[in-house]
Amino acid sequence: RAKQAGRNQYQFFTQEMHAQIAHKMELEHALRFALSQNQLNLVFQPQIEVKTGRIMGAEALLRWQHPQLGQISPQTFIPIAEETGLINTIGNWTLHQAISQCRQWLDSGHQEVQVAVNLSAVQFNNPTLVSTIETILAEYHLPAQYLELEITESVAMINIELTIKQLESLAALGIRLSLDDFGTGYSSLNYLKKFPIDTLKIDQGFVFDMLEDEDDAAIVDAVITLARSLGLNTLAEGVETQAHADALQIKGCDFMQGYYFSKPIEAAAFTVLLDQSEIN
Ligand code: C2E
Ligand code: MG
Ligand code: MG
Ligand code: MG
Repeated sequence: RAKQAGRNQYQFFTQEMHAQIAHKMELEHALRFALSQNQLNLVFQPQIEVKTGRIMGAEALLRWQHPQLGQISPQTFIPIAEETGLINTIGNWTLHQAISQCRQWLDSGHQEVQVAVNLSAVQFNNPTLVSTIETILAEYHLPAQYLELEITESVAMINIELTIKQLESLAALGIRLSLDDFGTGYSSLNYLKKFPIDTLKIDQGFVFDMLEDEDDAAIVDAVITLARSLGLNTLAEGVETQAHADALQIKGCDFMQGYYFSKPIEAAAFTVLLDQSEIN
């Protein structure tokens, strides 16, 4: 009986795995189609300078609007894009969109707005990354300091030597660099010192619970202190309430981003926010 049950369990497991693989293949097919049908778009979430309260830039975030399945989260489709190699096409598309959008903001008189683009592991480890980015910046005549690239702490730690090499080449172009979801991976402080980065993005998990959970508050404090001693900026993600914003200001955080200020929004809506931010 036990054997029988085991076998059934096994069968159930493989069926579930089969369904998962089928679902993945379906998504992969749909993702290829989405690319050709322009179902992907970028939304922009403002990043606020604490000192002045102004919008200093935007993080560009990918959206996939599937005609039947609705919105599919980047957390679902980026891993599929990575496994299938589609990430290179998607990543280049994203860089073109974000950089051309930033160029448009500058052309319409917004002088200080920069754009941040997320890079996945496959993109970051691609040997052609630096030349690709250089080419796109040149195509839109965008000075490199308006572009920020975000890699997660975990991606940075995959191959330290390669990370240092890539970051140094990007930094040499004048691109700004940040470590995303900081605190969730395992950075060695010794390597952190060797990365030519500008900003640590404090993971939203710590920010959400910072006011109720002493441990999370202590981590936020520690990251801010660490950043300061390394000469880096901090940006807190997931700032949802005024209480979060006030506490982070007192702690000396440099930049903030989150639903309290704005959800990620379409480029046109972001332009309206920029106009308001500069009037006030
Ligand atoms: P991330 O780069 O850490 O982006 C932050 C995520 O937190 C975004 O989710 C954003 O919408 C969400 N968020 C921002 N403020 C708040 C807040 O106050 N509260 C809450 N609950 N959430 C907030 P999103 O857009 O679903 O993106 C998820 C992840 O997908 C990103 O995490 C990033 O790792 C990845 N991703 C998104 N766009 C791209 C892209 O163009 N390329 C690559 N490679 N990855 C991307
Ligand atoms: Mg990010
Ligand atoms: Mg993040
Ligand atoms: Mg994240």
